[in-house]
Amino acid sequence: MAQKAPVTKNQEFEAEVVDLTYQGMGVVKIDDYPIFVVDAIPGEIVRVGVTKVQKSFAFGRVIKRLQESADRNPNADQKALTTGIAPLANLTYEAQLKFKQNQIKQLFNKVHVDVEVAETLGMENPTQYRNKAQVPVREIKGQLETGFYRRNSHIMVPIEDYYIQDPEIDKALVVIRNILRKYHIAAYNETAHSGDIRTLMVRRGYYSHEMMVVLVTRRAKLPATEMIVDEIHAALPEVKSIIQNVNPDRTNVIMGSKNKTLWGADYITDTLFDKTFEIGPTSFYQVNPQTTEVLYKLATEKAHLQGTESVIDAYSGIGTISLTVADKAKSVIGVEIIEGAVADAKQNAKLNGIKNVTFELGMAEEKMVEWREADLKPDVIFVDPPRKGLTPELIDAATGMEPATIVYISCNPATLARDTVQILANGFHIDGPVQPIDQFPQTTHIESITVFKKN
Ligand code: SAH
Repeated sequence: MAQKAPVTKNQEFEAEVVDLTYQGMGVVKIDDYPIFVVDAIPGEIVRVGVTKVQKSFAFGRVIKRLQESADRNPNADQKALTTGIAPLANLTYEAQLKFKQNQIKQLFNKVHVDVEVAETLGMENPTQYRNKAQVPVREIKGQLETGFYRRNSHIMVPIEDYYIQDPEIDKALVVIRNILRKYHIAAYNETAHSGDIRTLMVRRGYYSHEMMVVLVTRRAKLPATEMIVDEIHAALPEVKSIIQNVNPDRTNVIMGSKNKTLWGADYITDTLFDKTFEIGPTSFYQVNPQTTEVLYKLATEKAHLQGTESVIDAYSGIGTISLTVADKAKSVIGVEIIEGAVADAKQNAKLNGIKNVTFELGMAEEKMVEWREADLKPDVIFVDPPRKGLTPELIDAATGMEPATIVYISCNPATLARDTVQILANGFHIDGPVQPIDQFPQTTHIESITVFKKN
């Protein structure tokens, strides 16, 4: 099958864009050979220049747009679009919501599961929503810069307005960048594995306005630490916590395992509904506080809790779902793999005076099997796994405990569709439509809730 690609590098041709990949690239085809084109939208006719050729596909760029789609957002922020910040920003928001609904439909079709997918619930103002920034620090032309990687690359573009982030976070990043410049801190160099500061992480409570700054350094030693820390909290009164995280490895993983509080508290707090949450530096916390409330409210409603149920919250993070449903259930038990998050979750239960929840540290895959073997009989199981989804063992354990309801909160419809096949085979059916919620406007990420009921 060693067929030759029908295009060569730098070749130009005109074609209609026929599809949009899940990464937001336009697809044009020559015979059946796909060419993925940055910033091209289905229905558009474009003159493509081929940039890279592989055996079974190629990449291209738009040289000229001969016909524009009505779905095109004419005001797309170019830096946000060409970096990984906002790869869907070239679509109108309405088209983004449709795209996400269709992606889910297609992925379920692929695994031959017939299901209704509701319209994506979107945001009123789908920009400036992120409560967390995690940006690389690099040297460009002899100067320390913060920004974001160009799409599919490790080339950093300096950025001050991140478009989808809380603007107070954007401002803080500039302030911190300037302080680091002032003290001549060396930015991390990936190739040489040299320099002092690798990444800046800033989190800001949407309601509390409390800010945490995490300086991710290559070594435990950071020059001028005291001066830097003093200047940061003096310049940014919202900062309540400054943490150093040490990541000595040659790796793409952003955070290392060691945290040291340089100033202030070890955590910040924020509110969801009527509850307060403490959030530590390594704990997962939903990045879109506005839609998170919609997500949790819907997930809770869909579980139809009466106050008598025992509930499992698998992948519980800092306990946000557990504590949101606790008032409506008899008892909740959560499982989470990050030690700091479990500590936060326990603290959060205390903080809110909630006594009918417990949190266990461990792998959900293992705990669920243990619980099944111990004959635990939950009425409702919530699962909210990371992008890789569930494992077959976890699904067997979950369905084997015979809960009436499984509420699957997914941030990756591909693994959701895959897992659904097994859940259905284990004697469950899908109840009502799959509900996408736009947790990540302008990006290709797709969040959704699916409810399974025991047959
Ligand atoms: N439900 C929480 C967290 C969801 S994110 C919320 O809404 O905020 C997924 C969580 O799963 C993260 O906290 C992550 O640390 C945790 N996690 C990842 N792999 C895990 C595993 N194998 N077992 C248990 N928890 C895991």
